[in-house]
Amino acid sequence: MWTFDTDDVKGADLLLGPADDNWLSNLEIWHPRLIAVLVMCGLGILAIWKWGLGILVAGAIALTPAVLVSSMDTGNLAAMDRLFADPTELSQSDQEMVRDVFENIKTHAPRAPFGAYTLEFRKADKIGPNAFALPGGTVVVTDALVEKFSDPDIIAGVLGHELAHVSERHSLRQLYRSMSIYVLVALMAGDVGPILEDVLLEGSALASLAYSREHEASADIIGVKTSHAAGYDAAALAEFFETLSGEHGDGGSEWRSTHPSNSDRITTIKKLAAEQ
Ligand SMILES: [Zn+2]
Repeated sequence: MWTFDTDDVKGADLLLGPADDNWLSNLEIWHPRLIAVLVMCGLGILAIWKWGLGILVAGAIALTPAVLVSSMDTGNLAAMDRLFADPTELSQSDQEMVRDVFENIKTHAPRAPFGAYTLEFRKADKIGPNAFALPGGTVVVTDALVEKFSDPDIIAGVLGHELAHVSERHSLRQLYRSMSIYVLVALMAGDVGPILEDVLLEGSALASLAYSREHEASADIIGVKTSHAAGYDAAALAEFFETLSGEHGDGGSEWRSTHPSNSDRITTIKKLAAEQ
């Protein structure tokens, strides 16, 4: 048994006659056309990444049944309660105040795409003064948020912003975007079975997602409009961000990591609020 190996494929063919599998030796010759094909493939993949992904994500969202989205809310809330949240210790009057603002904001916000907006209170000191929305429309407000910001205008601004994340389906978009990479890797590894269960129903999946800057900006715009339409001072959202970004303690750090705040954002909110 011996092997013969050479880079000089043309020379070898002249010497030995064309190999049986001619197409193979043809491939080994460095064709300019091959480079062109490779470049085209690369560009194609880039194009799919840039435009196709958005289309895929929109398609996946349209195909996602509302009942699945609701169970994501239930699953995430249960995971939160297991991991770091306790029942609220807010006074009845504090809860009442937030509930009133919520009802008011809810009627002026864009429609909830997967059911209804619902409000949950939790004592979750680990995440400081915080509020976040689950994809199905469940909005969680922490005790620390209400203790720190008793101004209904600020609560309205924060809730308007969170409901906008729901109506624009931001967390589902982020989830499907990050999932598409996961699915691609899993496809190559040959195991796609438990992905949906693991990713969609496992509480940690959503918690680790941060909204993109683009999503934050769009939630700010819609939030400002909603809170103005509901009769609140829409500039209060800027005040909220100013207070949080002026702090260096634990309070608000979690909010800052999922809701990148900067002076540009505060300026934009003030400008938007003034235009209402
Ligand atoms: Zn946000």
